[in-house]
Amino acid sequence: MKLKTIKSKIGNAIITQIVETDINDAMPIILPDATPEEMKKIEWLDKPYRTDDYLMNADSQAFFIEMNGRLFVVDTCVGNEKEVLGFDGFNNLNIPFLEAMEQAGIDRTKVTDVICTHLHFDHVGWNTYKENAKWKPTFPNAKYHFAKEEYDYWEKDGFKNHALGPIENVSFYESIDPVVEAGLVNFIEMDDDLGDGISVKPSSGHSKGHINVHFIAGDETFIIAGDMCHHPCQIAKTEWAAVIDYDRKESGVTRRRILGELSGSDILVTCTHFCSPSFGHIDGNESDGFVFKTVDKSK
Ligand SMILES: [Zn+2]
Repeated sequence: MKLKTIKSKIGNAIITQIVETDINDAMPIILPDATPEEMKKIEWLDKPYRTDDYLMNADSQAFFIEMNGRLFVVDTCVGNEKEVLGFDGFNNLNIPFLEAMEQAGIDRTKVTDVICTHLHFDHVGWNTYKENAKWKPTFPNAKYHFAKEEYDYWEKDGFKNHALGPIENVSFYESIDPVVEAGLVNFIEMDDDLGDGISVKPSSGHSKGHINVHFIAGDETFIIAGDMCHHPCQIAKTEWAAVIDYDRKESGVTRRRILGELSGSDILVTCTHFCSPSFGHIDGNESDGFVFKTVDKSK
């Protein structure tokens, strides 16, 4: 089994995406408004983001970014041997992800920074791996940056009250607590500067403390926007919320605000589950619908 790996260059950044698995089957459950009939109405929405039958294609993937002497990972998929009860497609995975990293020339001991756009189980999994029945940090020399707001929400309220609470409780035990206990976590503000042209900006709605990651890569800028959208169709239909959004209304407000800011600019944007080519420009406006114009930066 060989995992799909995509290398791209944006400005002075080298980006390697490693696709853990597709999440096509889960998409109609996550975004129930995006029926084939409704998807057909979005004229610019083409393959590879949809099938011939207008079903959504999407991936679980991690973004590795080499830039300005640092090696970042943004979002770390589901991970192996993780307990994700109720989601058979994600439970107890056994995928050669670490091998795929090696094949892509990524030395996990050289990763300097891990950023999780939010702390849902499918964005934190490879924070750790199991060795001798213990969870160990996958990136032992990295700082793991988590938004304090997001972490506190789950600890104080989310485990009890959010639909994903029971899964998140286990996910924290497997993928978050071990890196906290190892002293590797840097709790950040939702609007924070990580140095060398990398910053995070608030994009709450899908989760309480959701952040987008901005990279100023020399003469080009790009953003990895986590689950601000699960699929490009939400760029056209900003009101289509994910069933697991913390606040469905706020997630739409956030999409309209940020897409409005990006529209017409040369800033490249992607969201974590967009399949490749994942980056594009935003055009259009709120009343006629925003447009995603794919820019293939792979090499
Ligand atoms: Zn996700």
